[in-house]
Amino acid sequence: METIAPFKEVIEEIKEAGGDASRFCFQCGLCDTVCPWNLVREFSMRKTIREATFGLTEIDGEDIWRCTTCGRCPDRCPRGVKQIDVGVSLRRMASEYEVFPGPVKPALSARAGLISEGNPLQFDRNRRGDWAKGAGVNPFTPDMEVLYFAGCYPSFDPRMKKAARATVNILKKAGVDFGILGEKENCCGESIRKIGSEEVFKKLARENIKTFIDHGVKKILVSSPHCYHTFKNEYPEFMVRFEVVHTSQYLAELISEGRLELTGTYGKKVAYHDPCYMGRHNDIYDEPRNVLRGVRELELVEMPDSRRDSLCCGGGGGRIWMDTPKAERFSDLRLQQARSAGAEVLATACPYCITNFEESRLNLEFENIIEVKDITEIIEEAIYSK
Ligand code: SF4
Repeated sequence: METIAPFKEVIEEIKEAGGDASRFCFQCGLCDTVCPWNLVREFSMRKTIREATFGLTEIDGEDIWRCTTCGRCPDRCPRGVKQIDVGVSLRRMASEYEVFPGPVKPALSARAGLISEGNPLQFDRNRRGDWAKGAGVNPFTPDMEVLYFAGCYPSFDPRMKKAARATVNILKKAGVDFGILGEKENCCGESIRKIGSEEVFKKLARENIKTFIDHGVKKILVSSPHCYHTFKNEYPEFMVRFEVVHTSQYLAELISEGRLELTGTYGKKVAYHDPCYMGRHNDIYDEPRNVLRGVRELELVEMPDSRRDSLCCGGGGGRIWMDTPKAERFSDLRLQQARSAGAEVLATACPYCITNFEESRLNLEFENIIEVKDITEIIEEAIYSK
């Protein structure tokens, strides 16, 4: 295996990201005890941190690409090592050398799509607003209450378009004055940043920020926790700040203000899965549960790994674009947990989680056993049912 000694500045970047890991990480291995990879195969964050500290990381291996940035290990580390930032620094170095092992290569197509079309799925940019055609959605204007930023998967992916349309139907029912940017919307850039393509992230972010400012955007409603996280916590690096709200929070807001009445019923047992970038990264656990609890006849059940201990779906950190062998998918484990909890529906609030869960549902042949729903789809059904 080729080992590339990192540049001095990369070592500095790693130290900045994780502190001087040689001094702070005492190799306790607690990170490995909570890492979801160890449920499906061997992987050691402790080892990665140790190797990074001494500049011995094998850049051509797969290990530096495994982290899904789920946030469990920084949450547990007694020494405050910033494992995610260290991992992203290593990926930046590999990207600089264009060293990508086989399972990571699909992410290069996503990167190409982001550069040319502003989305990782490589659809034409000018088709970005097509999902809203015929739904009576207006282009955003500065006098509107909120911009609905659907994001890449809800704009282009057939499964996730259903969640975008459910969101529109709910907003209409609640009388919200909203609009979309259509082809002027770009990927938020969260995942491409996590796979080390910092310049692509900055390009996407700058373009979005300019579009928001040019259109007089103040409040942004998002379907994806990844968009939420980036707009809220990363765009301020560009000296701008927008009010950002995730659909699950906005539903809670509309209900508590009396603008949205949950008049119908949803007579099923539902387990709620906390997406990593909603829960651990942004501490949003109660709003989605409260919304679901407000639906008549819906029974909310909890899975073993919930809230702060939520089991990652496997799609964060750009892993959604990489190949993961069938036997190593965390999403399969999550579906089995939901089933064991007696759920008929696994609900969540993230396009990556839904994409992975739907795939696991097919792989496990669970199509007749459990449904996978975005929280907006459940609420749409509840408000439009009798
Ligand atoms: Fe090092 Fe923190 Fe992992 Fe312990 S939990 S091995 S201190 S990175």
